[in-house]
Amino acid sequence: MEQQKAPRIAVYPGSFDPITNGHMDIIQRASRQFDKLIVAVLNNLSKKPLFTVEERKELISSVTGHLPNVEVDSFRDLLVNYVDYRKADVIVRGIRSVTDFEYELQLASLNHQLNHNVETIFMMTNPKYSYLSSSVVKEIAYFKGDLGDLVPVEIEQALRKKYEDMPKPQ
Ligand code: ADP
Repeated sequence: MEQQKAPRIAVYPGSFDPITNGHMDIIQRASRQFDKLIVAVLNNLSKKPLFTVEERKELISSVTGHLPNVEVDSFRDLLVNYVDYRKADVIVRGIRSVTDFEYELQLASLNHQLNHNVETIFMMTNPKYSYLSSSVVKEIAYFKGDLGDLVPVEIEQALRKKYEDMPKPQ
């Protein structure tokens, strides 16, 4: 008798403040490799984000709606505990540079030490987006620069609105 295989579930964790085309590229590619991909916004108390966790979740949902096996969630816990709770087996992370690699290797080793069942899978950035980060996107938006190829239109609009509503320092 053929055995039923458990669905392969992966978690793509991050700050996503906000989601960029670099993140989008990883999400699209990873969603093809797993039965389900959970994009999980880290509710990190020590960072001061531009968008709230709820806003980030809504924005991610609005730009990943065409990918039926992508779910958006948030967590405030150790990543390995969250991965266990979601019955996932894999953490997906993107790598842009050697600097990313060093940091990610440390993180993956730590997570493996905390839970031996959890694997981290790295996806190399699309070279088009190797320079792209949420921080550069915020800086360009703040100075009203062109965000055309860097973020989806919905995100560009949300950034413009956020900075319009924000009091400018004198
Ligand atoms: P974190 O604060 O966890 O690093 P980010 O939102 O900055 O959260 O990034 C989430 C993940 O996406 C990380 O693995 C990061 O390396 C990856 N990532 C960010 N930007 C890009 C990009 N342009 N190309 C590929 N991966 C990226």
